[in-house]
Amino acid sequence: MRLCEGLFQEFDRRGFLGVRIWEFIGYSLGRPYAHYVARELALRHPLRFARGFLAYRRFVREKSAGAGVFRAAPEGWGAHLGPRAAKAAAEVSRPIVAVGYCQKPLERNGNGGGCPAGRFTHACLYLDGLDLARPDGDLPAPACKGCLVRVIGREALKAGVSFNIMTTALDVARDIMVPAINNGGGRALLAVCPITVEIAALPLLVCGIDFSFVTYNGGNCQDYASWLLADRGHKLERAILGGQGLANIRAALQDLAQDAQKQGRAPGLRFARRGNTYIPVASPTC
Ligand code: SF4
Repeated sequence: MRLCEGLFQEFDRRGFLGVRIWEFIGYSLGRPYAHYVARELALRHPLRFARGFLAYRRFVREKSAGAGVFRAAPEGWGAHLGPRAAKAAAEVSRPIVAVGYCQKPLERNGNGGGCPAGRFTHACLYLDGLDLARPDGDLPAPACKGCLVRVIGREALKAGVSFNIMTTALDVARDIMVPAINNGGGRALLAVCPITVEIAALPLLVCGIDFSFVTYNGGNCQDYASWLLADRGHKLERAILGGQGLANIRAALQDLAQDAQKQGRAPGLRFARRGNTYIPVASPTC
């Protein structure tokens, strides 16, 4: 095992095949996420996997890094896909904004008991009860006041995009990646640790997802070992998104809202949960 670890680290140092996530791949072998991605992406869609792999090598070479924002294409939404594929990605399904469960408040920080929905869950009690047609009511718990999951989720609803609180890599693959590859593409804006950028970019590109990452400023996983612990719900720090990161998310949401308007897609008034994802709907009965 130690020999394999050393070999994967050496691959990363040399950028073997233009990829720098060999150590992560080594850690992931045998895990359900790796099996699922191999089966649903590589085996079911080998040509797309090959195309996505080539796009990924370009992404790693050219990755733009402006104030913690990493785009599939530095030029903006869709530029890496070509005009036809970008149009398809924009039209096939609602864009999705995803944030990490690790952004939720921690109990031990004296935030009034932490997230009332639980931390390692896809749920947010505030978003469950949100209705933009009504005046704001009381927050479900004192901890919600300083919670950016609430702020970003609310703005996602106003922009008419779906919202997901990410927990495990397996659920991200099931909720965001595989539906996109089966539908012909998609758009995603994800708040993640810097270490996740190169891990997640490969499957996102394979799935034809037009993506943008905004990275946290603090409380990040520092290495693959801590990343894998967080993937099981063991994350003792709270991920922090700085003011610039939030401004970047707001700017991207504005772009997506304008696109939705051009396509005649109505913004939602409430969220309905479909599986792990919050989908904007016009009325409670939708
Ligand atoms: S706003 Fe934050 S703390 Fe409140 S329920 Fe939602 S995720 Fe939990």
